[in-house]
Amino acid sequence: MADRYLGFTGTAPGRFLTRRLGLPQPTALRRWSPETPELDGPVLRLTAGQAPPPAAPGDPAPAAVVLDATGIADPAGLRAVRESLHPLVRTLAPCGRVVVLGARPDAADVHQAAAQQALEGFVRSLGKEIGRGRTVQLVRLAPGADADSTLDFLLSPRSAYVSGQVIEVGPPVGRKDSAAADGGPGAAGPRTALVTGAARGIGAEVAATLARDGAQVVCLDVPQAADALAATAARIGGTALTVDITAPDAAERIAAAVPGGLDVLVHNAGITRDRKLANMSAEGWDTVIEVNLASVLRVTDHLLKAGAVRPHGRIVGTASIAGIAGNVGQTNYAASKAGIIGFVRALAAAPEVRERGITVNAVAPGFIETQMTAAIPLFIREAGRRMNSLGQGGRPQDVAETVAWLAAAGSGGVTGQVVRVCGQSLLGA
Ligand code: NAD
Repeated sequence: MADRYLGFTGTAPGRFLTRRLGLPQPTALRRWSPETPELDGPVLRLTAGQAPPPAAPGDPAPAAVVLDATGIADPAGLRAVRESLHPLVRTLAPCGRVVVLGARPDAADVHQAAAQQALEGFVRSLGKEIGRGRTVQLVRLAPGADADSTLDFLLSPRSAYVSGQVIEVGPPVGRKDSAAADGGPGAAGPRTALVTGAARGIGAEVAATLARDGAQVVCLDVPQAADALAATAARIGGTALTVDITAPDAAERIAAAVPGGLDVLVHNAGITRDRKLANMSAEGWDTVIEVNLASVLRVTDHLLKAGAVRPHGRIVGTASIAGIAGNVGQTNYAASKAGIIGFVRALAAAPEVRERGITVNAVAPGFIETQMTAAIPLFIREAGRRMNSLGQGGRPQDVAETVAWLAAAGSGGVTGQVVRVCGQSLLGA
């Protein structure tokens, strides 16, 4: 499962050889750990058109730049983006960050809409060319947006494998007067989270990361995975709940396991049954739709109706880049994952959900190094790993950190978003 090529290109002979042969030279990413909790250098904050301050000899290279481009309202204004970033792209530290702040394209103002949409093409292109493990994002700020938790995430090693994303942030959803009184972000006590498919892979890492961030985590998986599930729960100080998410009584059993209600609900359980449509059985189709999509809708619906998702709750679904780009042999899987995107967008907009301050988002992982992807034949696996701007696969930790940001109490302004954790995969770009 280990990416030996990445290890090799990190050595002096490996760098020499791969440069001579014109092969990709991925940079080992700086991920969050207790030893590396921050980026390696200062963060510059500029308004588009403003030149970066001159660097004195011995100054550390900037690790990030946040460029405010919200005021750009016509194509001529775009030049200011070039002016600010042109001098910085060479000096930005390895694994550094470029975050462009934009405004929502305004349907009533064609010039502003064109200029703000232009930023998306700019960001996606810069992400593809900037190299050295550096990432580039566009954060669109709606009026009154609270983007603190989003910028904290993007300007930290926790977002190492997220690049080329456009994320819209608004004011926190929910009634303003209700936050502390009804168990919102100001309420005391640990939050309760439930993660499905938590016995192994991405789900186990999500559970561990939410526990790291202070949640009491209920880890759910099928009875067949009971031993691994118990081990995950014990490791993170959580509890194990063996339930098949497709069981008719799954939602009731979850509600019974969390009598005080849930603050965070992460739908991570998922399966593949890959076959081209011509060879796909009805059973292969139904099982994937049932596990990946239908059960997610059923369980969420029940928990919301039963009031088991507390005010200011966070619901996070797991899509996939296959659900965005499509993939050979995955009509069932891609349909289920695209369905998750539709579910998230519609539920996030539902007035009864917004009023209660509940956010609904999805992560869309790309190629993540897990048991699932270790089983892919070598050449297809290598292609999957390299065909992204960072030239390597992600780790379960990368998806988990993204889920933890969306699940954070401070992320109330982020809803209806689908955030790819794919190193800016070329698929569906
Ligand atoms: P995995 O197979 O390692 O783990 C999935 C877990 O879900 C397993 O523990 C499994 O027992 C559990 N599960 C399956 N059916 C269940 C059911 N009916 N009820 C309860 N639990 C059930 O997979 P992973 O690679 O960790 O993937 C996790 C999620 O991320 C899935 O939704 C997957 O589709 C998605 N994803 C993964 C990748 C990747 O590269 N690994 C890419 C895109 C999306």
